[in-house]
Parts: sequence; C-alpha cells; structure tokens
Amino acid sequence: MGISPNAGYVQTVQGIVSPESLGITLPHEHLLIDQTVGGVYFVEPEGASDRILAHQPVCLENLWWVRRHMKDNYDNQFLLDEHLAAREASLFYLRGGGTIVDQTNIGIGRDPGALLRISRATGLNIVMGCGFYVDGPSTQEERDSMDVEDFASRIVQDMTVGVDQTRIKSGIIGELGCTWPLKPNEKKVLEAAALAQQQSGASINVHPGRNDEAPLEIIDVLQRAGADLSRVVMSHMDRCGYALDTRLRLLDAGCFVEYDLFGFEGYYPARVALAEGHLPDTPNDVGRIKEMRDLIGRGYLTQILMSHDIGMKMQLTAYGGWGYAHIVRDVVPLMYVYGYSQQEVDTLMIENPKRLLTLV
Ligand SMILES: [Zn+2]
Repeated sequence: MGISPNAGYVQTVQGIVSPESLGITLPHEHLLIDQTVGGVYFVEPEGASDRILAHQPVCLENLWWVRRHMKDNYDNQFLLDEHLAAREASLFYLRGGGTIVDQTNIGIGRDPGALLRISRATGLNIVMGCGFYVDGPSTQEERDSMDVEDFASRIVQDMTVGVDQTRIKSGIIGELGCTWPLKPNEKKVLEAAALAQQQSGASINVHPGRNDEAPLEIIDVLQRAGADLSRVVMSHMDRCGYALDTRLRLLDAGCFVEYDLFGFEGYYPARVALAEGHLPDTPNDVGRIKEMRDLIGRGYLTQILMSHDIGMKMQLTAYGGWGYAHIVRDVVPLMYVYGYSQQEVDTLMIENPKRLLTLV
C-alpha cells in the first residue's frame, strides 16, 4: 500500500484508470495554454516593421517569420480553442496514441472542464498537471504572499480533491516552471512539490532554466526537500543544448530526462536562450534520436521520455506545424532506421510513462 488511496492507478481527468490502459503516451504536451500570463517570454519588439508582425494573427503569409520568432508573435502564444485542440489531439489517437499529459498548470490557463471534454471527444486518456509555472512580473505579487506550505496545500488539493469546484483531479505535479537564475518563488514551489509528492504519491515534472547549472540546482533543491528523484522528470533536455555531462548527472541522480521538443528542427530563438545565459543550440529530430541512442547505450533506457511540448499555434497541423501525431507518424519510423528495437521504442513510449504516471 502506497501513500495515495489511488496507489497503483493513474489519475486522469475522467477518473482513475489502470496503468495498462495508457498505451502510447505523450508525457509533456499542452492542449490549451496561454504563454503570456507570466509576462516572461513575449516582449514587444523594438522595430516598427517587427511590431506589425508581432501582432498579426498567425497565418500562411507570416508563418515564415513566426517560425523563426516563435516567442515574438503574440497570437502564437495562445492555444485557446478546445474544438481545435480535440481535432489536433485526435490525430494522435488515430495513429494509435492512448494518453496525453497536459502540463498546463496555474498561471498559464489550465482548464479542467475543457480537458475533460477533449478526453471524451477523442477517446484519449488525459492526465492534468498542477503546481505553478514560471514566476514573472504578472504573478510575483500574489506568489510573494504564499509560503511553501501554502503552495504545497494548493498542489495536494488539486491532486486529492480536484481543481476548484470541478472535482477534476490532477495526475502529475508539473510542469513546474523555473527560470535562471532561480527566482525565490520558484524555489518555494519546488520545495512545496517535494512535500506534495510525499502526500500524493505523484511524480514531478520540472521546466528548468536555460543554463547547465539550472537543472542541477533544481534536483539539489528537490532532494533537500525530500523528493523521490526517481519520480522527477527534467523537461526540455533537447532545448538550448544541455551538456552531456549535465544529462548524465541527472540520470545518475535517478531522474527521468525528457526529450520533449520533437518537431523542432534545430532552431531556437537566441534572444530567449541568451537571456538565461545559454547558447541556443538545439538538436533536430535526428540529433535527438542519436543522443537518446547514446544514452541508451550507457544503460539509461528506462529513464528517457519523448514528447513534443506543443504549446504554440505554429506547432499545430492547422497552422502548418507537425502536430501531436508527429512522433508516432514521423519519428518512430526514423528510430527504426537508426537501429532502435521495437522493445526499446515500447519502453520509451509506453513503459516509462506508465511507471511515471502510476501513483505510489
Ligand atoms: Zn511544457
């Protein structure tokens, strides 16, 4: 018997399900999101011609610019249409997908009712996140007044009672948004997550700052606060080129490392990377496949996760993007080309997420 009354099960927006029913799982996506809420990423451009592009709705005529300035177009930061979300998610279901983890949490537009409707419309299991995204100008004042216990009780409430009055429960703590250097409220949220993990039996997903020291500091904070690092996921390991040594140190500490930007083919905006002290080098899909192959060769097969982190319009098929089915449709066949076995693919896409999401 574990900590959670639902130990041994996975908590979806429709209720608890058997881990065996998850199937192919995308552990880090956003079906609905508002990325402007923290006030961290979108910045009004200086140049007049760029300002026009920054405020146009995403469309075929400006997609060439949006793809290279993904954080600089305001409309690109929003996924607000639940009917479009259901249509896009169903592309994953139609290719054999079973479960999507929606890592949208407090501060970026989490919507339990819409997730429930999307789950029912598509036939997919949807696991909802909880906790808090990056702290920024628009969130700081409220969070300054909260202490670690306040943050923890909010997380535990979402896991055990449900979000607000909906009674719809979260199934994972995350994605906990961190920037570099780590802000005081972000540190409090990490410590709260460790406490909440001990009370809920859930895993934790962290979005680290864009610096090699960031994920290592985060696991240090989590460990000191009592987190079980074997149930911690470090997201975005394929964004801004974390050093091999950093990834190995996370793996040796017992964490999952997540390659969750599949579909991004080697381009990341320099402005966003440099703001946190890192170069923007980002692998393409083949680079990801080779990096994961290397880590598997070193014995870390059971600690790697794969997803797309879809959270902007340009990533949806309706806007010329790759969509939620990209990994099963385009990447898995490529993995076979690079020598992956069926058993390795199943471990990455079914078994690892299953272990992650099963409450203990
Ligand atoms: Zn995310």
